[in-house]
Amino acid sequence: MSSLEQLALRAGRELEDAPALEVLRWAADTFGERFCVTSSMEDAVVAHLASRVRPGVDVVFLDTGYHFPETLGTRDAVEAVMDVRVLTLTPVRTVAEQDSEHGPRLHDRDPDLCCALRKVRPLEDGLAGYDAWATGLRRDESPTRADTPVVGWDARRGKVKIAPIARWTQDDVDAYVAEHGVLVNPLLMDGYASVGCAPCTRRVRAGEDARAGRWAGLAKTECGLHG
Ligand code: SF4
Repeated sequence: MSSLEQLALRAGRELEDAPALEVLRWAADTFGERFCVTSSMEDAVVAHLASRVRPGVDVVFLDTGYHFPETLGTRDAVEAVMDVRVLTLTPVRTVAEQDSEHGPRLHDRDPDLCCALRKVRPLEDGLAGYDAWATGLRRDESPTRADTPVVGWDARRGKVKIAPIARWTQDDVDAYVAEHGVLVNPLLMDGYASVGCAPCTRRVRAGEDARAGRWAGLAKTECGLHG
């Protein structure tokens, strides 16, 4: 077991009940510039928290080529008004190039391959220069995320993976957004509870969990970034 993995497992035990800001302060102090936040630009809560303990922190955003304009607008607003450095990752191929190689609307026919090409591989390349990355995963979002550790080991990438708001509820997020005036994607006020690529995201209905609008009607529930 590497020393980085040992560090992750020890921190996971020690920080399980720690407030989000304390978790991020530990990450910033421990990893410095080799720590980043990833954001889908659904909201800027974790980026905001991280910028309080590490002004200018790197915020990594995956531009799949399929985002809603509102998501790209949120990214631009975060870059303009927050004390962070937004880094936009793009897939090797444009959507048009992917269509030429695999045929149009790959997301309808083979969403796992589409996510691998447009999300998983770009993120792996983009995280190469970091030892630790933070996400906005929360346990209450869906059953697939119920066991999300606050600090864990990302064995696939060999990095420390941090979910500082894993124990938060939607009410906690809403309260933080209201208290700090944090930027949120306007689609959240338009019936979307979780925002991903436009072809694979729909509004949620009453009683559905937050991620029910992602790949609706398919067996797929995650893009592979967190598997
Ligand atoms: Fe492709 Fe949909 Fe995955 Fe986006 S969410 S990368 S469009 S399959």
